[in-house]
Amino acid sequence: MTTITIPQDMRPEDGRFGSGPSKIRPEQVAALDAGATTLLGTSHRQAPVRRLVADIREGLRDFFRMPDGYEVALGNGGASAFWDVACASLINRRAAFGCYGSFSAKFAASAASAPFLEDPVRFEGEPGTYRLPELTDGVDAYCWAHNETSTGVAAPVRRVPGSLEQDALTLVDGTSAAGALPVDVSQTDAYYFSPQKAFGSDGGLWVAVLSPTAVERAARVEHAATLPGARRWVPPFLSLTSAIANSRKDQTLNTPAVATLVMMADQVRWLNGNGGLDWAVARCAKSAETLYAWAERSDYASPSVADPAARSHAVVTIDLDERIKASDVVAALRDNGIVDTAGYRKLGRNQLRVGVFPSVEPSDVKALTACVDYIVERL
Ligand SMILES: *Cc1c(COP(=O)(O)O)cnc(C)c1O
Repeated sequence: MTTITIPQDMRPEDGRFGSGPSKIRPEQVAALDAGATTLLGTSHRQAPVRRLVADIREGLRDFFRMPDGYEVALGNGGASAFWDVACASLINRRAAFGCYGSFSAKFAASAASAPFLEDPVRFEGEPGTYRLPELTDGVDAYCWAHNETSTGVAAPVRRVPGSLEQDALTLVDGTSAAGALPVDVSQTDAYYFSPQKAFGSDGGLWVAVLSPTAVERAARVEHAATLPGARRWVPPFLSLTSAIANSRKDQTLNTPAVATLVMMADQVRWLNGNGGLDWAVARCAKSAETLYAWAERSDYASPSVADPAARSHAVVTIDLDERIKASDVVAALRDNGIVDTAGYRKLGRNQLRVGVFPSVEPSDVKALTACVDYIVERL
């Protein structure tokens, strides 16, 4: 295939459209430089790095308008590690899951393999739709993903009716949604995420907004695991009570990547300075609607998610007509410095997938649509 060269003035200013890792703003990198000798390469147990963690925790409290009693905990390992933290420390006996894509299914798989938990109840939805878990006897945690990153589907975040009366927790994976989609965290007991999506940082951390009920549950579950005859193993690395104790001191259980903290703190400050969650939500919605409207108008592209209400404003998926190979479009974009627009590997659809997180300029999203048209006309 011959290379297609997109005129420079048509290209986005920044060509990073990944769904995670995602664009890191230059100002975040400048923050690394500013902390080059005072933060990087210094102890996470000392005041400067702890202040950074405090900034993140306090900044997120404002950003999510957290109810009284809620708190931010963090630890190493990303959202994937938090699934196992939840299995070890939050799910008492049995959890119910909404499964409608790769990420939502992975947490259910973790719970299924924990020998001290009962088999999870799975409520399965076709890729491109969502399915929330339903009230089920004997369930003590309801789990789903706010944004299913593999398909570009956004699901509602509200407690399963009757779940509070059942003393069940609501654990929502906010990984590609937090910072981009509207949320009322009081509808959750853990709203957890990794920072390399809407928070435009590097990966490696998990961050969780926890309700007092979740904190109590962790204490009870972990205490029960110490009693004679208990079957549960809480590996120290997966102990949520340790993570909470460390977080309250603005630390992590073990050594974090300080650079990730620096970039995350800068992003939280940037988001709050611009108007917080409402601003971020509006900005992402604008970018997403630009793409969906372009696809609706196009004679070769269409939104992958049929239900307009389920179309994500954080990760946009666009199907291409079978005459056009998405992999050719993705490759030609990459040749022009426009990267990470491929669909989720394992989904295997003829699709473009675009992360439209707050760091991405809506004008760059507009430019992207013109670049795709330019390529498709010349393939
Ligand atoms: C990216 C992603 C994860 C995994 O995050 P890691 O930091 O790689 O563990 C989990 N859930 C969702 C919804 C995601 O988008």
